[in-house]
Amino acid sequence: MFDPALIAAVRRNTSDTGHVVQVDYFRDLYSGHYEAHTTVGETFNGSLLGLGAAAALDGEISSLDGVTWQIRADGIPVVADDSLGMPFAIAAFGGQAITLALSPGDDFADITAAVEGDLHSIAAIRIDGEFTDVLLRSEPRQEPPFTPLTEVLDHEVQFAFPQWSGTLMGFRFPDVDDGEVVPGLHLHAISTDRSSGGHCHSATVARATITIWFDDLRIEVPEHPHEGQPLP
Ligand SMILES: [Zn+2]
Repeated sequence: MFDPALIAAVRRNTSDTGHVVQVDYFRDLYSGHYEAHTTVGETFNGSLLGLGAAAALDGEISSLDGVTWQIRADGIPVVADDSLGMPFAIAAFGGQAITLALSPGDDFADITAAVEGDLHSIAAIRIDGEFTDVLLRSEPRQEPPFTPLTEVLDHEVQFAFPQWSGTLMGFRFPDVDDGEVVPGLHLHAISTDRSSGGHCHSATVARATITIWFDDLRIEVPEHPHEGQPLP
C-alpha cells in the first residue's frame, strides 16, 4: 500500500520544484493487479495533470487542472468522483514549465525527441491543440481472477479520430525496462468538448503547443503490496 505520509510530505514541497508521484509499480498492473491502491482524490488533488487506470480496469483515467475523467469502454468521459479507486496512477505537481510550439506533422516520435532535448529523465507533459489521426483506447471492466494486462489489451476498444481537438497529458519516462515505470512517452487524452478521451496510442500535430515541467522532477514509487511479482 502506498504511504500517505510520504505522499503528504512530497506535496508540501510543491512551491518551487516539480515532482511526479506514481502509485504502485507498473509491473503490478502489468501482471494483473487491478485492485484499487489509491483514489482519484488522494492522487490528483492539487495536481496539474495525471493519468491512470480505474479499479478492475474499468476504463482509463485522464486528469487535468483538478478535474478527472473516467473513460470506460464506451469511450465517453465521465467526471470521476474523488472516491473512485485506481490500481495505478501518476500525477504531476508544480515545477518550472516551458512551453514550445510543436510543428505540424509532429508525431509521437517527434514529441519524444522534443522532450528529450530538454530533459534527462522524467517529464510531465501537456499538449493542447488540434490533431489528426488520433487513436485512443479504453478497455472493458475485468472480473477476478484477473488476467495480465497484455491479455486484456488484446480486447481493447479503440476510438479513431481523423480530426481531433483537445489536450494530451502524461509523462515521458526514461527508456528503462525495470518494470517500475512505463518507459517512453505515455499520454492520455481529453477532447475540448469532453466527448472523447482515453489512453492515446498515437496522434499527429496539426497545430499544438507543448508544456513540459522539469526542474527537479522526481518520481515517488510507494511501497507496494505485491512482493516478488516478476514481469511475465
Ligand atoms: Zn495509458
